[in-house]
Amino acid sequence: MEKLILTKVSKTYGNGIAALTNISLKIPCGVFGLLGPNGAGKSTLMRILATLQEPDGGTIQLGEINALTQKLALRKRLGYLPQQFGVYPKISLETLMHHLAILKGLAKRKERQARIDFLLQRVNLYEVRQQSLASFSGGMKQRFGIAQALLNEPKLLIVDEPTAGLDPVERNRFFNLLSEVGERSIVILSTHIVADIQALCAGMAILYQGRVLVQGNPLALMEKLKGQLYEKKIKKAEREQYHLNYQVIHERLFLGEPIIRVLSAEHPRNGFVPVAANLADSYLAQINQA
Ligand code: ADP
Repeated sequence: MEKLILTKVSKTYGNGIAALTNISLKIPCGVFGLLGPNGAGKSTLMRILATLQEPDGGTIQLGEINALTQKLALRKRLGYLPQQFGVYPKISLETLMHHLAILKGLAKRKERQARIDFLLQRVNLYEVRQQSLASFSGGMKQRFGIAQALLNEPKLLIVDEPTAGLDPVERNRFFNLLSEVGERSIVILSTHIVADIQALCAGMAILYQGRVLVQGNPLALMEKLKGQLYEKKIKKAEREQYHLNYQVIHERLFLGEPIIRVLSAEHPRNGFVPVAANLADSYLAQINQA
């Protein structure tokens, strides 16, 4: 199966912001997570992969295709679900799918109808195909987004921050769908939500201030913190003192009292207890140390 290979991809905007600096990634078939806080450069990278924006430097290769010089060939193999897309709220789902399929080159009516029926069944929207998108929930709109992105059976599916506004049931259904697509294609999912990655991705990279901090398997990333993470319940009045004296990577409230997690090469004693790292800890530790 073909891989997506990015080598030293960079992009600086006209205002001098270096959105991406030397991004190199090797992405195989499956769902790959691109995790990073707002402003990390995720959307810029996704738009470049979707051929909507040019990088200043670097190369992108999908199998035999040079994505930067063979844009048309890439687009034939590409599905893209942007962060926000305008929909035409007044026409029916089925009519809209036909319009989009024609734009993607599915010229023959019979084949087009078969593909649309298949996809709408797959994303569980077949029963509502006569309704307009104005009546859809957030989850239904996202599933429509996937159905339209799959019209041309893409080898590369790009999904930018897809879970915003989905309730837990919708999110699960959506993830099952992505996971199925990942069995046969490369799916790149960008998100700032660690739980999205944990649910779905065998491979991931953390993007921060336009750079890749780490890439690999989420489990391996968690392993890195083994024996270095400690937790303690403290009083609100002590917060500042602890933040000064320890490398606090995370703080949460439990019944109104703060619980802090700190990184430490040795056991800090002083009432701290060792804890196992989760992916959020690994993410925060990486960003903290960057
Ligand atoms: P993310 O998707 O991770 O939130 P973006 O790719 O949207 O990150 O943005 C990365 C950086 O580039 C941010 O500092 C953002 O302000 C800046 N940026 C994004 N788009 C533009 C643009 N069109 N012009 C100038 N700066 C931009």
